[in-house]
Amino acid sequence: MGVNELIGNKFNRLTIIGLDHIGPNYQKFILVECECGNKKIIPLSAIKNGSSRSCGCLQKEIASSTLRNYLLKHGKSKSHPEYKVWKSMRSRCSDKKDKRYGGRGIRVCRRWGNFELFLKDVGHRPSKKHSLERIRVNGDYKPSNCRWATDYEQRRNKTDNVFLKLDGVIYVMQDFAKIIGVTPMAIVYRLKKYGKRRTLNHYKKVLKNECIK
Ligand SMILES: [Zn+2]
Repeated sequence: MGVNELIGNKFNRLTIIGLDHIGPNYQKFILVECECGNKKIIPLSAIKNGSSRSCGCLQKEIASSTLRNYLLKHGKSKSHPEYKVWKSMRSRCSDKKDKRYGGRGIRVCRRWGNFELFLKDVGHRPSKKHSLERIRVNGDYKPSNCRWATDYEQRRNKTDNVFLKLDGVIYVMQDFAKIIGVTPMAIVYRLKKYGKRRTLNHYKKVLKNECIK
């Protein structure tokens, strides 16, 4: 098909205006007008085989929409409340100077190097009062060892290994403190200073109103 028969025909975004020149090897170059208004000279073969579909504006649009989607997606991730949690978890554990985490070998599992996978595993944070807790305090950050917990639940977990017996009932530290009406720290202080037996005797008296807290 000659160029003249193609004049006015549209291929994707390009409309053929006419023959511009014949190049070496008798290759035909045509003048085209793009939907965006740009005019361009391209080989006729490029329009026929579809390698030229626009003046170049189409590629730019695709590239910018890919970028836009990328920013949109990541912008969205960063606005997740879980993103901050994820980021600080990773920085704590990669910091060798952090004596409570990185410095004593607490690691983040490989899977959780990816925020999306982390979010998929732990789910959305139930509330602002929840933070990420490791069930085994010396264990790593990984799906089987983490859950969202409130501060109360976390403190309770940390003192769960301290049991106190009162009137035949065994309590964990947090519950014991609630019954007495003091802070767990107050009990820890007494335990250290006076030992378990004296401390318990003291609190029994407290409950019977025989002495002050
Ligand atoms: Zn164009």
